[in-house]
Amino acid sequence: SNRAPTTAIIAPNFKFEDMGIGGLDNEFSTIFRRAFASRVFPPGLIEKLGITHTKGMMLYGPPGTGKTLMARQIGKMLNASEPKVVNGPEILNKFVGQSEENVRKLFADAEKEQKEKGDESGLHIIIFDEIDAICKQRGSTNSGTGVGDSVVNQLLSKMDGVEQLNNILVIGMTNRLDMIDEALLRPGRFEIHIEISLPDEEGRVQILNIHTNKMRTNGVMASDVNIEELASLTKNFSGAELNGLVKSATSFAFNRHIKVGTMAGISDDINSMKVSREDFMHALDEVHPAFGVSEEELQ
Ligand code: ATP
Repeated sequence: SNRAPTTAIIAPNFKFEDMGIGGLDNEFSTIFRRAFASRVFPPGLIEKLGITHTKGMMLYGPPGTGKTLMARQIGKMLNASEPKVVNGPEILNKFVGQSEENVRKLFADAEKEQKEKGDESGLHIIIFDEIDAICKQRGSTNSGTGVGDSVVNQLLSKMDGVEQLNNILVIGMTNRLDMIDEALLRPGRFEIHIEISLPDEEGRVQILNIHTNKMRTNGVMASDVNIEELASLTKNFSGAELNGLVKSATSFAFNRHIKVGTMAGISDDINSMKVSREDFMHALDEVHPAFGVSEEELQ
């Protein structure tokens, strides 16, 4: 058949449940609809509609809530090449000329592929993590060396230049949307702004289930562990902190099985090792949420 070429296809065996992302169903739907849906339709149709693909999107919210995870997984879903991740502060640590060159290089592969393959080019995702470090209000005293300004200019010229580039999506990430230079948030640039906030209780159940999935299915979690209870005790925890909680609990379980000072090191009942409710209670004394806790709650 004469099917028009597409810039992206949905990977045939892709399952939402397998993405390992908890509590972000609505955010995922919105991101997909606004930034990716148009890309799975034939370019001919997009032309008829007279629209262009979204080129930039800003994900904002507290650290460790799954922004990077989400970007990577959507990329996988659309058979995009592995996203290139650049870190704002890292770019700032370079000389002006070097930073500009690095930004230019980021776009080079996509530009090359678009030239060679046109509409059949795959999707290229570029992630700017902690983008606020380079994109503070331009001219503000904070930008210091001036590296920030010139890198922002370079980034903007690349994004504005991607008019003919159908195959790029730039994802900016920040904890502080209010710190971002307005010029970057305009239509045609990082035009979509999606908040990824801390998970609610139901989200925490999903995330804890994801991060204990292996130990549960392999019978290495004690039956007294109640995920709902843990979710109720972890208000303000981010996904990354919930992951940290599971790791901490596991370390307490390991510790029970280590005999310090013996040759063997590990006790004989290792095969019966299970992570228990008590391990999680110890972990709750050790791992605390960094964000979203009000003064009142701390007292
Ligand atoms: P940062 O702003 O610090 O870059 P981020 O929002 O990009 O953080 P990620 O790097 O995606 O956060 O998350 C770090 C790790 O925390 C993930 O690899 C994952 O193990 C866990 N995690 C975070 N959020 C979720 C979630 N919603 N569901 C499952 N796991 C999560």
